[in-house]
Amino acid sequence: MFHVKHSHILLINPWITDFSAYNLWVRPLGLLYIASLLRANGFRVTLIDCLDFPIKRKEYRDGKFYKVKIDNPLPFKSIPRNYSQYGIPEEMLLKKLHFIERPDLIGITSGMTYWYPGVFKLIEITKNFFKGVPIILGGIYATLCHEHAVKFSGVDIVFHGRDEWEAVKLISELTHFKLRTPVRNGFKPFRTELRTNTYPAFDLYPQIDYICISTSRGCPFHCTYCATPVLTKRFIRRDPFKVAEEIEYWTTQYPIHNIAFYDDALLIDPSEHIIPILKEVIKRGIGCNFHTPNGLHIKEIDEEVAELLFRSQFKTIRLGFETSSETAQIETGGKVDNREFKRAVKNLKRVGYSGEEIGVYIMAGLPDQGVGDVEESIAFVKETGAKPILVEYSPIPHTPLFEKAKQMSPFDLQNEPLFHNNSILPCQWEGFTLADYRRLKERLRRG
Ligand code: SF4
Repeated sequence: MFHVKHSHILLINPWITDFSAYNLWVRPLGLLYIASLLRANGFRVTLIDCLDFPIKRKEYRDGKFYKVKIDNPLPFKSIPRNYSQYGIPEEMLLKKLHFIERPDLIGITSGMTYWYPGVFKLIEITKNFFKGVPIILGGIYATLCHEHAVKFSGVDIVFHGRDEWEAVKLISELTHFKLRTPVRNGFKPFRTELRTNTYPAFDLYPQIDYICISTSRGCPFHCTYCATPVLTKRFIRRDPFKVAEEIEYWTTQYPIHNIAFYDDALLIDPSEHIIPILKEVIKRGIGCNFHTPNGLHIKEIDEEVAELLFRSQFKTIRLGFETSSETAQIETGGKVDNREFKRAVKNLKRVGYSGEEIGVYIMAGLPDQGVGDVEESIAFVKETGAKPILVEYSPIPHTPLFEKAKQMSPFDLQNEPLFHNNSILPCQWEGFTLADYRRLKERLRRG
């Protein structure tokens, strides 16, 4: 057990290290809930978000990250592509650390499994800077690659899981700082409702012009390639009116005109959830642009849902279609079929969205998938007038498809999370090579 006198917690969102990265309204939502709960329980919290340094913002405030080219990690030495660290320059991080009072504990989150080099570098820097201060590592990498993180990250504790309140209790134990009651529900299932007593601590940013929001946890589907059923066992949602209240709070108290929904299943059972949320947003006259970077459930987009999405200013519509192969649709989880897809696009176009505004995710590089399957899916989407967007498959540990991916892949997916990186097409084979993939990408770029 660590013995500390104070109650100052430093929370850090690390850099991304990758061949490419783009800021689609990125915010470390879980970490911000933890920050908010800690404050409500009497802790002092400092936040450093290494990704809060965007350049070239677009109209809706998405945009490129600042990046610094770094050496390719050893397993990628033979790959002739630039590898970069995305986010604040290292000098700026050091400067920020200089101005911070020595914390009693440092909490670091993590994103994609293959971004761990940026996490490790941050751990090394903070360890050297604040010698002897305990560090907890949490987040997606720490949960999905727990053993790897325990073995190689060098932190004191690897937190396994996504329950913010559990993380807060652990911090309280380690710092011997007693929690106050009753502020205990960060994002907690309460019977059939997901309750929150606090909003994420976006106010810790020096400037906020966009936020993200989550109205639910989990997803009722179990697609074989997806991390959501692994990370969140139960599908549970917030009260729609409380969601509308939160949206109103952020858009009236701060100059926020863009909100991204981080839900994995925002549209499921629409009459109980998204329809009351959107009706309330319209009734309250909330003038804000909404975005859905995680993709929407296509089968729920009937005429009413499409119209409400349009009227409440959903600007970035992304549909999780993945493939037009009916066999693959069924085998991977049955979340959508081709008829439902055509109907959804028709409804969206009827209410006013242009084809260009309807982005459709198509998965490329699934284990065993041939290039012809992806070509057919692209052609199918184009026929409807919507815009195909290729998403390379990333093998995710503990998902049903991971075992098959390990058998198919020329890379050691089990022991090296870097090989989960979708940019290298981890499950490439003679029926779908990297050259095939580049050709498809180029063809799409030319339109
Ligand atoms: S429907 Fe979407 S979020 Fe749900 S399991 Fe499938 S891919 Fe994941």
